[in-house]
Parts: sequence; C-alpha cells; structure tokens
Amino acid sequence: MKAKAAVLVGDNDIEIRELDVPGDPPPGGALLAVEGCGMCGSDIKQYHGGTARAGIMSYPVIPGHETVGRIAKIDAEGARRWGLKEGDRVAVHGIAPCGTCVGCMSDSKCVDSFYYGFRSLHERSGLWGGFAQYMEIVPRTKLYPVSDRLSIEDALLFNPLAAGYDWLLAHGELQVGETVLILGGGQRGLACVVAAVEAGAAQIIVTGLRSDAFKLDIARQLGATTTLIVEDEDVPARVAELTNGRGVDLVCDTTPYVFEPVHDAIKAVRNKGRIVLSGLKDSRLMDGFPLDALMMKQIKMIGVLASGHWATQQAIRVIESGRLPLELMHTHSLPIDELERGIKTLAGEIPGERALHISILARS
Ligand SMILES: [Zn+2]
Ligand SMILES: [Zn+2]
Repeated sequence: MKAKAAVLVGDNDIEIRELDVPGDPPPGGALLAVEGCGMCGSDIKQYHGGTARAGIMSYPVIPGHETVGRIAKIDAEGARRWGLKEGDRVAVHGIAPCGTCVGCMSDSKCVDSFYYGFRSLHERSGLWGGFAQYMEIVPRTKLYPVSDRLSIEDALLFNPLAAGYDWLLAHGELQVGETVLILGGGQRGLACVVAAVEAGAAQIIVTGLRSDAFKLDIARQLGATTTLIVEDEDVPARVAELTNGRGVDLVCDTTPYVFEPVHDAIKAVRNKGRIVLSGLKDSRLMDGFPLDALMMKQIKMIGVLASGHWATQQAIRVIESGRLPLELMHTHSLPIDELERGIKTLAGEIPGERALHISILARS
C-alpha cells in the first residue's frame, strides 16, 4: 500500500511523494489513517528553514504535528494499553516525552522527546508527520478519542484550542468573574477567548491589527466583550477606562515578533496581576524592558509553550459540546498537494486571502 505525503526536502521546498505504508505498526504502537492535520506558525517557520537552522530537525521530513485520523492497524499490546481498536478516531498529541529520562524524572524537559512532524524520513517508513495519508504512532504517544459526529475541520481545532486552556487557565489561573486582556486575535488568541468564556471571565478584551478585523468579529461572536484595533486605540488607556482604572487581572500576549504588546501588558495589568507570554519574538532581545514597573506593580510574569494533556482534553470536550460557534474559525480546507499554498496562505503571503485555521485533508 502507498501513501501520498508532503515531504519537506529543503528550505521552502516541498515534494509530493508516494511512500510505502508498512504492513505492521511499530511494536506496541499503531498505524493511523490520517484524516487531516491542522497548521500553525511553527509550520511556517519549519517551511522557511528556521527549525532546521535551529538544529531541531534535518531534511527530508514530513511536516504536520496537529493530526486527527483513524486507527488503521494496532497490535495487541497497543490496543490493551490505549484501550483502542481499529477504526477508532483519535487526535494525536504532537509531542511524546519518554517519561523516564533525567529530564522527565525531574519534571524538566525530556531529553528524548518524540516530535511528530519533525522526524527524519529515513527512520522506518518515514511516515512521522500529519501531512500524509498515513502516520506511524509510537507507544508513548498520547491519543485522544474524538467523536465520529464532528467534521474533520472541527476535530482539528483540538490543538489550537488546547493552548487557550493551558495558557489562561492552567498557567494564568483565570478565575470566575476576573477580567482578561488577550493580545492578538489569531487562532491562539481566539482559543484564549474560548477558554476565558468557559472559565466565566467577566470581561474579555481582545486586540488585533486593522487587517485582522475579521478575526476580531469572530472573537466577539465567541464571547469577547470588547475588541480593540491597535492602530486606532491606546490599548492600556482603553483597558483602564473599561476596568474603572483598576487594570485587568490577567493578560495573555499571543503576538509573534513584536514587543509593543509586552509593554501594553505591563501597563494594562492591575497591581499583583498576571501576564502570560506565549508569542515568541524570534530570539530577538527586547529594548526598554520596564523592570521597575514589574516590581512596583508586583506583577507575576509566566512564559508558556505548547500545551499539555489536561488542556487537550478540555479542547476536545468543548468542541464535542457544540456550545460555541467554533466553525467560524475555519477559513481553508486544502488537499495535501496544496500544502505549500496553505503555508503561504497562513503566512499572509497570498494577497486577498484571509486565513485563520487551515485544515490539510488527507483524502479530498
Ligand atoms: Zn502547531
Ligand atoms: Zn524523557
């Protein structure tokens, strides 16, 4: 059996290939018939070569780390451990730490993490990424059953939505009745809106660029109470107005590359408030960091990355509940052959295209 796969062979260079599907899953693991795979900013970075330059992976590789599919084959050991059988629909957590190395044993970073979408094509079948029709699953992977009733596009929101729960609730400790400022209205910013709505936040303020006005529309439909266009408004001043001069309890910065939102966060948060930082700034250093303000206001600042097990469960629960109009987040469904166009669309490199959540479908 053959599987169509998008193979990243070098910087900005994707080849569509037909690869052999192994007859058996890896020992204790499974073989997944991929239905689709979501995309995020790290796919753009990987495509442009940033991930290879950082030494995290080397070419060739099948990208894609936000995968949903059906169990095509599973051995007895895998079936027993996961409680799954052939035909079951699952979401795959993209990062699988080993659980036993020095890093894992000290609740630190796993020295031997298995990253789907970043694994060499030369290892076994090479089918280790979600932008392919099949994917091998190693035993240590966290698999989450997903309802058959969901559209594949809805199911694929499990990854972006998980970030909202992890960042605002698990790390930001958002409480019922609190006020929250979400900087950036991309898919992670909207995920934060969903988590804030579910947590019972009293005010949910979201910022975005003028060009992101359609995303802010969706934010309001999901439950944001106020949206602000950063080019048109003084964000800290508006937040002060909206909170009677107190400032918000919690801020989450989801914006990549720019520092202005970090300055805004420090100004807009209340005394003893919390700031969660999730927007990577491409390793650049920030000038003019107001260190004294941090101490004077006794601000708690928290860095976050990816999302964990609990948050993934919450994301799947809210998708399955059908309580929120999450389908508003879908903008594109593309076949594997058009992955390159999908990446450029998400990166805003295609004039006239407005992208939010893009699904790459394995069979279309
Ligand atoms: Zn991702
Ligand atoms: Zn480990």
